[in-house]
Amino acid sequence: MAEQSPRAQPFSGRVALVTGASRGIGHALALELARAGAHVIALARTQGALEELDDAIRAAGSEATLVPCDLTDFDALDRLGAAIHERWKKLDIFVGNAGELGAVTPLSHIDPQDWDKVIAVNVTANWRLIRALDMPLRAAETGRVLFITSGIAHRADYRPYWGGYAVSKAALDALARTYAAETETTSNVKVMLANPGPLRTRMRAKAMPGEDPLTLKTPEDLAPKLLQFLLPSSVQTGKLYDFPSDEILSFAGPQPMSV
Ligand code: NAP
Repeated sequence: MAEQSPRAQPFSGRVALVTGASRGIGHALALELARAGAHVIALARTQGALEELDDAIRAAGSEATLVPCDLTDFDALDRLGAAIHERWKKLDIFVGNAGELGAVTPLSHIDPQDWDKVIAVNVTANWRLIRALDMPLRAAETGRVLFITSGIAHRADYRPYWGGYAVSKAALDALARTYAAETETTSNVKVMLANPGPLRTRMRAKAMPGEDPLTLKTPEDLAPKLLQFLLPSSVQTGKLYDFPSDEILSFAGPQPMSV
């Protein structure tokens, strides 16, 4: 039998926190990072799914630390930041991937609790993590941050009914771009956003129940593409990687109306 050549380990010695690692995009990216040598800190609420990820990471010859936690427990995020600083003195990679869709319904029909949850998971938790992780990210030789946004945040024509989610992702874009600006000249930290486009996950199935999931690309197609922005050699910051077009996009402000 032909011997398999060992996989390159460009992330060897690097510590990476991935939120929403129990399934979908976060799961695929956590596994991809671990296979490339990173020690993955995997955060999500579903402990059983994190344990299955841990098994897969060990089978790939790497190691993980599991953090079963609800992102809306903001004090727990502070404790996580302190624990990372205490144990590793640095954090090389932070992927803010976990997301909540909320109800797809007119703005006037959104339940206030549902609105608060979408904003808490998609925006506030990511800000609380920036706050809790800023010190270990700056302490790393090359801190890399990636937030998973959505095309809906910056569509030229806003869609009806996706209001809570669209507002939260537009706010996430502003959060990421502000952190990119704050770190650009004062640290080696780079901060990117990624738009996955439609992918075969539980969230997409909830959003588009009539769609045939087999027509969609998968998180496993996306994950290897995202690694480039987490490498020490990556120079991009404050920009958006668009998976459907496989392009890095810069942000433009409002355009003059054509007459
Ligand atoms: P998914 O399969 O539903 O996974 C969502 C992940 O977020 C799960 O691991 C879930 O873990 C975690 N999560 C949700 N609420 C949480 C909370 N309160 N505390 C901790 N973890 C929480 O969705 P996905 O499609 O992979 O989505 C990943 C990201 O991609 C999201 O930010 C989403 O907005 C974005 N996105 C997806 C698509 C797409 O087509 N799939 C398109 C554009 C953008 P637990 O339930 O175990 O906590």
